[in-house]
Order: sequence, then structure tokens, then C-alpha cells
Amino acid sequence: MKYVMENREPAAVLRYFEQISAIPRGSYNEAGIADFLVAFAQARGLEWHRDQTNNVLIKAPASAGMETHVPLLLQGHTDMVCEKNRDVEHDFLRDPLSLYVEGSFLRARGTTLGADDGIAVAMMLALLDGEIPRHPAYECLFTTAEEVGLDGAHAFDYSRIAARRLINMDSEELGVVTAGCAGGLRSDLTLEYRPEPFAGECLHVQIKGLMGGHSGENINSGRANANKLMGRLLAALERDMELHLARMEGGSKDNAIPRECEAWLAVPDAGAAAELLTGEAARIAQELGADDRRFELICEDCEPQACMMSAGDTRRAVALLVCAANGVLEMSRDVAGLVEYSRSLGVVRSEEGKLTLVFSSRSSIEARLDASVRELDLLAGLCGCVTRHHSRYPGWSYAACSELREAYLAAYRRVTGDDARVNVIHAGLECGVIGSHLPGLDMISVGPTMHNIHSPDEALDLDSVAVFWRVLGDLIPRL
Ligand SMILES: [Zn+2]
Repeated sequence: MKYVMENREPAAVLRYFEQISAIPRGSYNEAGIADFLVAFAQARGLEWHRDQTNNVLIKAPASAGMETHVPLLLQGHTDMVCEKNRDVEHDFLRDPLSLYVEGSFLRARGTTLGADDGIAVAMMLALLDGEIPRHPAYECLFTTAEEVGLDGAHAFDYSRIAARRLINMDSEELGVVTAGCAGGLRSDLTLEYRPEPFAGECLHVQIKGLMGGHSGENINSGRANANKLMGRLLAALERDMELHLARMEGGSKDNAIPRECEAWLAVPDAGAAAELLTGEAARIAQELGADDRRFELICEDCEPQACMMSAGDTRRAVALLVCAANGVLEMSRDVAGLVEYSRSLGVVRSEEGKLTLVFSSRSSIEARLDASVRELDLLAGLCGCVTRHHSRYPGWSYAACSELREAYLAAYRRVTGDDARVNVIHAGLECGVIGSHLPGLDMISVGPTMHNIHSPDEALDLDSVAVFWRVLGDLIPRL
């Protein structure tokens, strides 16, 4: 194999990264990488276990003299987000990634790089190979389907783990130690209605140009939610004229703030409706932040649709869109600047006779998630909807004392001369799930610096990989 990072350090880590980049490993397609990991363990006589979801656990004994130290759990996910530029031919089920180095960054041609979280896989393989000679016993857990709901972490049998401290390597900023994360759940609210034959004039309304972002990490940016804005516009219209919603589609991912939304309406006078909506949109534009300055509303006459909601059902749909609380709901009183509880209406979609709203609620406190469930159930009851709550995952609350965190911070200081920042995030991490199965687990989430993850612009900062490896080299022999 020809390596594109031949002369860079840490050589073992980068070689393993290049090897796994040849193995397609999108979420739910982790059998190939699991085969590779098992073959790695077998070739070295290491204890291994593979489960039905292709999670792989590999254990290595302590180095000589470290046998009495408690084992260390290391963890990262094998799956990656598969995104490519439109003009690139790439089959994520078959083709190896095409890596290249640009300055001090590693990238893949036209596709995601999968450094999130392939760099953790490569690091663990190098550690299992003894590249850091003095170490406690390792338990290296390679999980699957992280990017699509932490499925592997949920499915793993944690009775196989003896360690009570965990280094998760799924953070993306070298100088930051993550020390807590949010839990969450999704709620689908479905309004079922009896379609009526379309009558009146048809108006197609589109909201475009909003900034969007991650519905956890960016929720405190105050960026507008296209689905909520559409609700407000429809509410304004509904007050002034008879309105029938024929169809509505907004957002594509339940974990993203929707940037676009469109609706097909039946109204008595499409011209008058467009005028009213345009005026309302101009008023809304005054309250939007700079991120959303490209907001635009497009109203066009269109062909009549096959069917529509009754005026009463439309009112229920509009009430649901407008009245469910959205955005930052509570800030933490313990950690300055941390969102403690939020909700985002990520997706609205239509099927024949059904309108479904998908909410994502997040909190580091389980009671808040329970409250979110009840609030949405009550509102859904009033609007005649059915709710389905699913994909719930636990959070990781910040621990005031953590020996592992202190040890990492000290190692980081010795290696770099700088202090790393301790951070708690308003998004999910596998640590929440793993910690819920191993009570008292002392955890940190760390990693080298990456930019633009989940996009074809993903880039891994190779200098930060070298520093991160030196920090591990300082830390691990002391554990
Ligand atoms: Zn990740």
C-alpha cells in the first residue's frame, strides 16, 4: 500500500488511518471494518468480542510492571457520515476514500474524510500495538451506527467491561476536554385528517435562505427555524381569510435547524394571500439575526392540488406549529453559557391524510425530558394528534470531581504548556449511553482538531494529531 502520509508522525496512527480509509464504513455498513478489527486482534493473539451490531471489543494486557493498575476503557465509533460533492463519482459501499494532504490538513477528494471518528479507531489500534510502551490493561471498544442514533453503544453488553474510566475520542478540538453532554429524544406528532377535494386558488409558499445548523450545538445562536416561521405566516393568514393547508414540507433532518420550508395552500384569492404573507414576512425579517439575513419568502400561484385539509383541521395544524415551545427553554445555573434544555421542530412532512411534526428535545437532566414528553402529549391532545416518542438517549451530567479529567489536563499542560478548556456540550455523545450502563464511570471525551465534519470539506489537522498523541503518551503511563 502506498501511503500519502509516509513521513509524518505519529506514523503508526496515520498508517492505520490510511488502511481503514480503504474500507467503506458508512453507518449500518460496519461489517467490513469489524472484520478488519477482528483480524487485527487474531493476528496479535488479543482477546476480542464482536456482537450482532458489529461492535468490537479488543482487550490487551497491561505492560510489564503495570499489572496492578486498573484497566482503561478507550472508545470511538467505526461508522462515518457519507457525504460527497455532487460532481464526484464515489460509491460509499465499494470505493476507498481518496486521501490527500494539503498544508497540515488531511482531506478526502470530494467526500467526507471519516476522521470523525476513524482517528479514534487508528489511535486505538496503535495503542493496542504497544506504541505507547507503558500502559495499564486496555479495553478498546469500537462502536457502530453512532451517527444515526448511537445504536451500537445502545446495543453493547457492558458486562464485558471491567474498566471504570473511559477516554472517548470523539471530540473535535484539541484544546478542549468535553466533560458532559445532553440526552435527548424525538417526538413525532401526527395529525390525521380526512382529505377534502381541493377548492379555491392554490398558492405555493417557500421560505428559503436561513442559516440552520445543528439543533443542539447551535440552538443558542437564535437562528430562525423555517418550520416555525411558516407556522407564524399561516397563523397571520388564517386570521384574515379562509385557509386550507394542502401540503407542507420543511427540514430534512430531525437534528438540524430547518433552513427551508414550503407549503401548498388553498385560499379564496391567491394574490391577496401573497400580499398579506409578503407583508408579514417583511415584519418578521426585522427580528432575524445577521445569520439569517438571506431569509426570503417566495409566493407563487400553482396548479390546484388533489386534496386539502378542512379549515378546522388547518387551524389545528397551525396551532400545533405555533404553540409548541421551540429553541432554548432553560439555561444551566451551574455551567455559564450552557443550554440545559431545548427543543427544535426539525421536520414537517405530509402524507395522504397525515401531517407529521418531528421535534427533537435535548437536556442533560432526565426530568426535563420527561417534562417535554408530557408537554407535547398535552398539546397534541388539544390539537387532536397522536404522539410517538422514540430514539431516547441519556445525557452525561458534569461531575464536579474527575480524577481522569485532572490527569488529562495535567498531561496536556506538561506537553503543550497551555491549559485545555473544560466544556459541556448541548448535544449527544456515546458517553451518555455508556455511562448509563456503567454507573460511576469516570469519563472524558477528547480528540485532535477537525473542521467541517459531516461534510465533504472535512479536514483533520495533522499537527493536532501529533500533539494529541504526545498527550496520550504522557498520560497513559501514569494511569
Ligand atoms: Zn463522531
